[in-house]
Amino acid sequence: MRKKTVVITGGAGFIGSHLCDRLLLEGFKVICLDNFITGALSNIKHLLGNKNFRLIERDVAKYIDIKEKVDFVLHFASLASPEDYLKYPIHTLKSGSLGTHNALGLAKQKKAKFMLASTSEVYGDPLIHPQPETYWGNVNSIGVRGCYDESKRFAEALTMAYYRVHKIDIKIARIFNTYGPRMRVRDGRVVPNFIYQALHDKPMTIYGEGMQTRSFCYIDDLVEGIFRLMHCRVNEPINLGNPNEFTILELSKFIIELTGIKSRIIYKLLPKDDPRQRQPNIAKAKRLLKWEPKVELGEGLYKTIEWFLGL
Ligand code: UDP
Repeated sequence: MRKKTVVITGGAGFIGSHLCDRLLLEGFKVICLDNFITGALSNIKHLLGNKNFRLIERDVAKYIDIKEKVDFVLHFASLASPEDYLKYPIHTLKSGSLGTHNALGLAKQKKAKFMLASTSEVYGDPLIHPQPETYWGNVNSIGVRGCYDESKRFAEALTMAYYRVHKIDIKIARIFNTYGPRMRVRDGRVVPNFIYQALHDKPMTIYGEGMQTRSFCYIDDLVEGIFRLMHCRVNEPINLGNPNEFTILELSKFIIELTGIKSRIIYKLLPKDDPRQRQPNIAKAKRLLKWEPKVELGEGLYKTIEWFLGL
């Protein structure tokens, strides 16, 4: 039987590379597209000799030409750390808009299924808590995070248009804060920042008073959710995240405890438009995918710290 082929844009990134691993294990052929702006060869180096894996170095904002049959397009290419998208707002807008257009075009041409990696950022600084998929969000389109939030909102609108007009079988994963091995040490997001700072005897940088909240999902749980979403019949956005919510101050204390290192905390200015709270309502994923996260924050952080220690 012919193996199914999946194209993963951003396949050398943090989430993308874990998806490459999982889908190869599940018997897919994987074509990984990445321009390495934030992805890393080290994330997929172990796959380069695998005959079912192919790497194409390419910017998804440019036309994608693939000769063979494709069954699934997973569009995961994007800058995802606020530090990165503040530095590269135009790249961010392009991969969310032009990149999504190209990835959808490929899915249409190949009569393939399509998945968009969307984000909890479509809810902006949410006025409804926890956030269900029915919430339309509270986003500052012209603010510093607008390049990410609005490009993902545009990407969702485009994906729904391709579903309605071209009848493409689409999936939209609204991914909440995810962490784990292969996050870049200097990624800028809070989990790698705190772990790096603790392990290098640097003070932990808490932005604002640390009372803002996030809900952290371990990468293996997320990948399981994405895998189930690929195979379900739903053509609407679904939240994927861990509903256990923590303040950033609590997170810092957790990491201090787990590393056993007595880091100092310093307080820095809260970045502009930083959402005050975030927690997914995952009732829909539970009902339709029979999915919920299993890895507790302590266990996931422990594994992540171990991985950072091995670098
Ligand atoms: N944050 C922090 N210190 C850091 C990095 C981030 O206090 O060194 C805070 C940030 O202000 C935000 C939360 O941690 O409130 C999560 O930030 P992250 O960049 O991980 O992702 P976001 O959820 O904001 O996209």
